[in-house]
Amino acid sequence: MPLDPRRTVSDLNQLRALTADHHGAQRIAWSKTWLEARAWFQSKLAELPVEHHLDAAGNSWTTLRGESDRTLILGSHLDSVPNGGWLDGSLGVLTSFEVLRSLAEDYHGKPPVTLRLVDWADEEGARFGRSLFGSSAFAGTHSIQADRGRTDRDGIRLEDALRQCHVDIDRIGEASDERGNAGAYLELHIEQGPVLERLSLPLGVVLGTKGVERHAIIFHGQEAHSGSTPMAVRRDALAAAAKLALEIRPIARKHPDAVATMGSVKTFPGIVTAVVGRCETTLDMRDLDAGVLASMLAEAQEASRRFAAEEGCTVEWSRIWSIEPIPFDPALIELCDQAVRETAGASHRLPSGPLHDAAEVARAGIPVVMMFTQSLAGLSHNPAENTKTEHLELAVQAFDRLARKTMQRLIS
Ligand SMILES: [Zn+2]
Repeated sequence: MPLDPRRTVSDLNQLRALTADHHGAQRIAWSKTWLEARAWFQSKLAELPVEHHLDAAGNSWTTLRGESDRTLILGSHLDSVPNGGWLDGSLGVLTSFEVLRSLAEDYHGKPPVTLRLVDWADEEGARFGRSLFGSSAFAGTHSIQADRGRTDRDGIRLEDALRQCHVDIDRIGEASDERGNAGAYLELHIEQGPVLERLSLPLGVVLGTKGVERHAIIFHGQEAHSGSTPMAVRRDALAAAAKLALEIRPIARKHPDAVATMGSVKTFPGIVTAVVGRCETTLDMRDLDAGVLASMLAEAQEASRRFAAEEGCTVEWSRIWSIEPIPFDPALIELCDQAVRETAGASHRLPSGPLHDAAEVARAGIPVVMMFTQSLAGLSHNPAENTKTEHLELAVQAFDRLARKTMQRLIS
């Protein structure tokens, strides 16, 4: 059967019916629903001349052997955040599946290069707070020590959740065995932002992913009675945190593509009759330029110390996670631009603010590019996430074009 974009939309709807409730998609990595999504996906492979296995980090690999061992990898992730959207990750996996189906047919089961479809394990990090789990194990950038002690909100340890899914935390580094012969990695994803919609373009080419600095910041003050403690002597940890929450905005606005977000604020004791003695916050800062990112971090740290001093508090920073900016492969960016133009008539190049598994694959030294499709109202990680059906179908066509162009490049 030739490429059938409508079949991909129907697959996406099937997956949604299987793994979403009225709050949205519930394919949280290492959960029962995630395993059901993967089992459903695997059942669809039966019709194809492919091999399937899980690697040491739980990444799911489907291989269509070609004339050459040189390998083109296509993929994304089936896991979602809690109450997530129906397209984040699943669009890339199911479009890659459609391309694989069509290439298997066109080449009678033996394309000129080996094709592999990967569904990365735990891209979102929704349960244990560690994004890009499987792809970083593949890239060899994952340090097990840093994550061994992680627990979910019920106190279940990462190590134990992995074991239930037959993944041994001490062996996840062996996922790097899958890198052999990889010549390129392609990923289709929804934009998850408003840029393409504002330009009235269905598709875009991703230049790379922004670097991220993600930190926990704790302000320490003094718990005190809200009735008896005069304003002048308070050491209010929330006041210091609140000043920083406002200050990160001018810090980010100095740079055109930079963003900074204080996404979480917890106060202790957190009751109406006490001055806040401890305030725990998080800060996430992103930019495409490593120098800009470093200077934003330094400015935010300096500001936090200044505000802590002003409020009679102390402040303590700890890095939760960081990644440098990852530019994608210039030659593949050109091919992706051609594929998008040939399919949709016009193209646009943009950086990605959200992280993607593609960034980890690029860190492993494999040439990478991503294609974005427009997100309605820029919404994602939200059940309202959506993309017009005609744009989904164009994305399948353009991604198929990109895969064929890349395959030609790998054999020439
Ligand atoms: Zn995603």
